[in-house]
Amino acid sequence: MRFGKIQENENIIKFNLELKCTNCGKKVPGGMKTGEKFYETDEFYNELEQFKKTYLCGVCRDKERLDS
Ligand SMILES: [Zn+2]
Repeated sequence: MRFGKIQENENIIKFNLELKCTNCGKKVPGGMKTGEKFYETDEFYNELEQFKKTYLCGVCRDKERLDS
């Protein structure tokens, strides 16, 4: 999954997140990619927090799409 800012020709950092669905509570291992310059900046951590707060697993995401 792409995360944050990745500039052209920039080195890509891969990292793993333990994601938890905010709807059903299912834990999902997330393989993430981001740009080297963005990685571990304040903005990076802020976005990470927001991302985790709104994360939905595949099943819940599909459900939401069907409902709307
Ligand atoms: Zn879910």
